[in-house]
Amino acid sequence: MFHAQILTLFPEFFTSPLACSIPKRAIEAGLAQVDCLQIRDFSTDKHHNVDDKPYGGGPGMLMKAEPVVGSIREARKRDPQTHVVMLTPSGVPFNQAKALEYVEKRHITLLCGRYEGFDERICDEVDEQLSLGDYVLSGGEPAALSVLDALIRLLPGVLGSPESALLDSFTEEGMLDWPHYTRPEIFEGKSVPKVLLSGDHAKIDAWRKEQAAIRSKSRHLS
Ligand code: SAM
Repeated sequence: MFHAQILTLFPEFFTSPLACSIPKRAIEAGLAQVDCLQIRDFSTDKHHNVDDKPYGGGPGMLMKAEPVVGSIREARKRDPQTHVVMLTPSGVPFNQAKALEYVEKRHITLLCGRYEGFDERICDEVDEQLSLGDYVLSGGEPAALSVLDALIRLLPGVLGSPESALLDSFTEEGMLDWPHYTRPEIFEGKSVPKVLLSGDHAKIDAWRKEQAAIRSKSRHLS
């Protein structure tokens, strides 16, 4: 079974997204287990503080090492095989190849930051630092949720049709998906390409590959 642990100050962020659609089905079918650990529970000071001012001055607060490291060690204790990933704009970029790599590991912990980020010494406790892209979110939770969703849909048995994930964008040599159409045949004067109505599967395959190549090239992916 795929086991994800999420280290966060906002476990409630994950409640509704994991209770619908594909993640819900995967969890209910016993294909995935997702546990949230509240980082604040690992703070040992009497006010349960998790943040403090940066040494050297500057705006904002930082996540303190003590509660965050405590939560990481607890995650490793609960699941010794877990691969601990810190979500941070300074990390390596997340992409479909990373998703495939993580899903193979089957045991993953996603560490979500807040405020101005983490005390640097926390980095020594994680296996990898991961970025969702070159922009700044207010917290690691939306990033962790995106990663989790991308992983869960790759788990065997989760998607209704097993080929779906194999045909997705970025899977075959980084290519994008081809254009899709469904009924009606004409929508506001725009027709479905004739080849898709031809019933000639060889021609349809060739057209799809060609369209995927054109689209990928136009977006500098091939
Ligand atoms: N001061 C940090 C910087 O400039 O790199 C940004 C901190 S951000 C406001 C707070 C938290 O959101 C980060 O610690 C991280 O966990 C998460 N976060 C923000 N942008 C992210 C991104 N592009 N990828 C992954 N996590 C991100």
